[in-house]
Amino acid sequence: MTLQLETAGFVEKTPLEHYVAPDKPSLVGLTRAQLAALLGAIGVPEAQRKMRVQQLWHWIYFRGFTEFDAMTSLSKELRAALAEKFTLARPEVVAEQVSVDGTRKWLLRLPGETQGERPHEVECVYIPDTDRGTLCVSSQVGCTLTCSFCHTGTQRLVRNLTADEIVGQVMMARDRLGDWPGATRPIDGIIPTGEQRCITNIVMMGMGEPLYNLDAVRDALLIVADGDGIAISKRRITLSTSGVVPNIERAGAEIGCMLAVSLHAVRDELRNELVPLNRKYPIAQLLEACRNYPGLSNAKRITFEYVMLRGVNDSIDDAKALVRLLKGIPAKINLIPFNPWPGTKYECSDWEQIEKFSQVVFDAGYASPVRTPRGRDILAACGQLKSATEKLSARERMALRAMAMVD
Ligand code: SAH
Ligand code: SF4
Repeated sequence: MTLQLETAGFVEKTPLEHYVAPDKPSLVGLTRAQLAALLGAIGVPEAQRKMRVQQLWHWIYFRGFTEFDAMTSLSKELRAALAEKFTLARPEVVAEQVSVDGTRKWLLRLPGETQGERPHEVECVYIPDTDRGTLCVSSQVGCTLTCSFCHTGTQRLVRNLTADEIVGQVMMARDRLGDWPGATRPIDGIIPTGEQRCITNIVMMGMGEPLYNLDAVRDALLIVADGDGIAISKRRITLSTSGVVPNIERAGAEIGCMLAVSLHAVRDELRNELVPLNRKYPIAQLLEACRNYPGLSNAKRITFEYVMLRGVNDSIDDAKALVRLLKGIPAKINLIPFNPWPGTKYECSDWEQIEKFSQVVFDAGYASPVRTPRGRDILAACGQLKSATEKLSARERMALRAMAMVD
């Protein structure tokens, strides 16, 4: 059952934390310190641990190996000892959808016992473009927040992902895309121009509010950014928040990645309705936290996301108020066409209106890219693959699972 918490007229769901982790944990997602401690626990002498951690790190995060047995720089005994207690498992792919535009969306089942709840599942999306390949990663199963235009917000079940489940999404996507050194790529034509790899950028914009799961998100992103492993630079990692003000500074100080803020409205009255967290942390507080974001400069701007909702927040006055509001903050503005979902009361703004809005933003000196909707044919809006798959019968789900395993 999901409990409701009420604070100052703001209602949110309480995360469930009563699932049981698998008996045999995966090493994917462990920090160097955690790996060293595990090696100590299985009898590796202290003097050797640093070197062994370095070797394991290379096999796990640089090469993407899924079997201990292939890790030839480790002794046979150590490989056997590791295999006895641990795995290198990633989340299980339950469904994979490929859009005509090359966007790929995976529904992932997380390991562990859910004690009678249905399996815990999240989504992860790969969006190839000419200059970059972006992986959109989830931080929670569902979301405790209830933004009125967001489908994830309607989902009842909520739990925080562990760092290994967050890193596991990146590992799974690199597996599926053949994105490891020396791997054969199953798919052609998806490497961005001038890049060696498919996945060049990470955005924490999947399911969940990353700043409500900051410790795990931090550990995971520091692993993803580590130069001896997956090595995606912090400048190419963006964390998106609906505005958890007290954790914004920590994200900057402890992770140092790029920040995106889901603003969506310029007046508190409207933002309270669209992003109910605004009742707790109103616009003025949110923008103050943005001004203080560690490392903020013209070279490291905050992205303000603004979803275009017809007749709700898309007037020219709104556009003018938006640029006034952001004055003085090194900012980028991302206008996002609303991606509708069954049952929503909102509609996407007309294209003409989006262009007029975007012109005001552009005239104020912002490059105002309108994020083109990607993967519309595969329901790529946040939260939608999960709901589409939930409508399938048990037999159809099994067939999908089998497909994912043999593919
Ligand atoms: N919880 C975080 C990150 C996940 S949502 C946040 O809210 O920022 C990632 C982005 O997608 C947010 O800007 C969110 O407002 C936006 N979004 C959610 N549902 C959407 C929809 N149906 N259409 C367009 N954008 C949506
Ligand atoms: Fe949660 Fe973000 Fe969706 Fe709001 S927009 S419900 S914070 S995932």
